[in-house]
Order: sequence, then structure tokens, then C-alpha cells
Amino acid sequence: MSTLGTEQDPLLVAIVGSGPSGFYAAEALIKSDIAVKVDVLERLPSPFGLVRSGVAPDHQKLKQAIKLYEKIAASPEFNLIANVTVGTDITVKDLCESHHAVIFTCGAESDRKLGVPGEDLIGSHTATEFVGWYNGHPDYRDREFDLSHDVAVIIGQGNVAADVSRILSKTVDELKQTDIAEHALDTLAESKIKEIHVIGRRGPAQAKLTPKELREFGELADCSPVVLSEDMILNPESEKELEEKSNVASKKIYDLFCEFSKREIDSSKTKKCFFSFLMGPKELVGNSRLEKVVLEKNGLSGEPFKQSARGTGETIELESGILFRSIGYRGVPIEGVPFHENWGTIPNEKGRVTDNDNNVVSQFYTAGWIKRGPSGIIGTNRACSVETVGCLLEDITKLDDGSKKSGAAAIYTILDSKNIRHVNYAEWKKIDAKEIERGEPKGKPREKYTYIDEMLSVTD
Ligand code: NAP
Repeated sequence: MSTLGTEQDPLLVAIVGSGPSGFYAAEALIKSDIAVKVDVLERLPSPFGLVRSGVAPDHQKLKQAIKLYEKIAASPEFNLIANVTVGTDITVKDLCESHHAVIFTCGAESDRKLGVPGEDLIGSHTATEFVGWYNGHPDYRDREFDLSHDVAVIIGQGNVAADVSRILSKTVDELKQTDIAEHALDTLAESKIKEIHVIGRRGPAQAKLTPKELREFGELADCSPVVLSEDMILNPESEKELEEKSNVASKKIYDLFCEFSKREIDSSKTKKCFFSFLMGPKELVGNSRLEKVVLEKNGLSGEPFKQSARGTGETIELESGILFRSIGYRGVPIEGVPFHENWGTIPNEKGRVTDNDNNVVSQFYTAGWIKRGPSGIIGTNRACSVETVGCLLEDITKLDDGSKKSGAAAIYTILDSKNIRHVNYAEWKKIDAKEIERGEPKGKPREKYTYIDEMLSVTD
């Protein structure tokens, strides 16, 4: 009979990715009634994924989730192996040999493509790059954003588009006491952008951002929100959508847009943030770099809640030297793990990874955005990870193949043989303490290290 999950024979689980879904998966395992050891692998020397490098610096409250993650990390069953890339530094096969199960919680690190001509011109950026840059993510530290233009265009009307446009709309005074990276604050201080155009391919009833995020645009120190009153006229299908009680957030959003459309534009403010609807990019034009954006007007077709945007053929042009594509994230495949190319996710059934023939792949589980796509707020990942861990625990007898697993010890042996400098949680806490110390004189919660070498030097 299997003894897996007892004190003498704990269940060894490797979790790939230390963002919210990774921490919530670790929490669910640790709180279960079996004995476990959880090793969380992270590519960067710092944990917490998008809570550290995605959540906007002026939304510090959202970062309070980290307090819970710190409690989870303090459990004796938890172990962080950071600064290690799964797929290169350590293979998925290695993890399967060292652990009984592997949970992939590596998020959605890439972006959906617009698929229009000129998408890759200089000056056309993904929101991911910009968000990573202002949040001090080492991958994006050295990206350059030319903010010397008058007009910036943001494609998409989700919460990421709201973050990007709000950061462009705010004054340095509104940002300087956040944990925004110093290099980004310096560049934003020189910004010449006066007009920010946030473009939605559907109407104001279908905008995906949330009311709290939209309301902030009405309260900015030096930027007015601009919405045209004619854009507030809805088709009957959209009216039906807003009458639906379950769609209360969209109704709030629509009412806020209506309120903005009735406001006098405050001429004392330097910047304007335009929210425009029923328009999609047709072409990005420029010789070597972006000069103008050709937008096509759209109409909506379909039943309520299933309305899609269709081009009408009518175009308008917007002169702009900088554009951000904020149309949703996309997962990146890991070698040796099934991947759904169209969806950008790991195929799964309730978190059990499946192959091309829909057969469950033994030992493999997934949670978070790489499981279900990039949707929901931070807390949504908790239920997602709990579901996955529930399946894993149901499978516990199948996970016992009779072989002796060495867990973290086997991983360290491989990493050390390759001279790979890994970082544990105590070392991360040294980086954390130093960042907080660096922020103090500036009144910032922290001044992040933005180069991996700098982070590692603090741990030595
Ligand atoms: P999102 O909410 O899915 O929004 C994507 C936007 O891009 C939508 O307006 C979508 O329009 C549009 N879009 C998609 N494909 C397009 C195309 N080909 N052409 C033009 N427009 C296109 O994605 P997100 O903003 O990246 O956010 C991801 C998740 O993170 C969301 O769940 C979001 O709420 C969450 N998040 C939360 C916060 C917060 O809580 N403060 C902050 C940031 C992110 P359609 O509706 O027509 O598809």
C-alpha cells in the first residue's frame, strides 16, 4: 500500500512560477491534510510574478496580496528555488524524476498579435514591454520609449490599457512616491505626450476595464477624460446587455463614460485622455518608425453578449509616433509540456494537463493564466489553484510509481553541476530589505533593482 503523503514519505511537488497561482497552489498543498514538500521554481531572483512586475505602481493596495504569500513562504514545507529557468537550467524531465508531480503556473508572458501591417514598426510596442519597463522587470529594463510625441495611442480597453494610459496621463508628482522604477520616472518626467487615445474595437457597453480603474481618469491632477456624447448612443443589443442585472459592472462603466461625456474639458489641464469606441487598427504607417495609425470604424453584429466588431470600410487617421498594443496576454510553451497554440495555454481538464488526444498526462498539472487564459483579478487565481490541487490530491495513489524521489536535493545537484546560481527565499528577503531601504529617502515603498546582477550582488 502506498505511504505517499505521510511524514516519512511526503508528497514532493515542484511548482513552476512564483506568481499568485503558484503561491495559491503551494498554499492549498500545505493546508491539505497530507504531508507535502513544495519547491517553487522561479526564473527571476525575485518572486511574486505580476504582483511585483505587472500590478501598476500607483495601485499599491493590490500588492498587499504579497503579505499572504510571505506567510505561505514562511511554512517549513515551502522552498523557493529562484533565478532558475525551467526548460534550460533544469528540464521538465528532471523535475518529473525528482518530484511526484509538477504544477505549471508560469502565467502568460507574451502578447496576442494584432495582425495588421506595420505592427512591428519602431514606436509600436506591446503593453507588456511598457508595463515591465515601468515596473523594473529585468527583461524590459533597457527598452526605450520615445515619449517626445504629442499623441499616444493605446489599442484595447481592458485594465492593462487603463494602467498604461493612466501612467502616461499622470504627473511625476502623482507617481514619485510609488514603487515605479527610477529610470521610468525619469523618462516620464520628460514626456511631451498631450493626447492619449484609448481605442476600443467595440462599444462603451463592452469595454473590459473595471469601474474603479475608469473612475481614476476623472480624478487626475493634470489630465481630463474625453468621451464624445454621440459615442454613448447604444444599439438595442447593447441596451439589453446593460439591463441584465449580472452585468452591473458594465452598466457602471457605461454610466461613467456618460458622465465623462457631459463634463466640460478642464482647459487648465495639460493632457487629455480620449476614450474612443467602435474602431480598430487597420494599418500602422511610417517609413522606418510609426508616423500614423489608420483606424477603421466598426459596427457591431450578433446577439446581446455575443456581439462582435465588423469593419465598415470607413477609415480615419491619427498622427502618432507611439502606440501600445494592449489586447491581451498569451502563454509561452515550455519544452516537453503540451501547449495549445491557438489559445496560448496548456490544455487541461480542471488543471490536469492533457495531450493532443485529450489524454491526461501523468504528473503534470497547471493553474492560473497558463491554465485558463489571461483573465480575472489576482484572487481569481486562488480558486483556480485550489481546483488544480484538488485534482492532484485525488490522484495521489497514481503519483506513487514506487521510485524514490529526492525532491529539491536532486535539483540542487543538477544546478550546482551546471554552476547555476540559485536564490532561496532568505536571499530574496535580503534583496527585498535592500530595495525597501533604497526607497526610504525618496518616500517610495521600495526602489527596485532592475538588473539581475545587482540583485545577486545583494545576496552575496
Ligand atoms: P482584457 O481584459 O482581455 O482586455 C483586452 C482588450 O483588448 C479588450 O478591450 C479587447 O476587446 C481588446 N482586443 C482584443 N483583441 C483585439 C484586437 N485584435 N483588436 C483590437 N482590440 C482587441 O486584457 P488585459 O487588459 O490584458 O487584462 C488581462 C487581465 O488582467 C484582465 O482580467 C484584467 O482585468 C486583469 N487586470 C486587472 C487589473 C486590476 O485589477 N487593476 C489591472 C491589470 C489587469 P474585446 O472586448 O472586443 O475582445
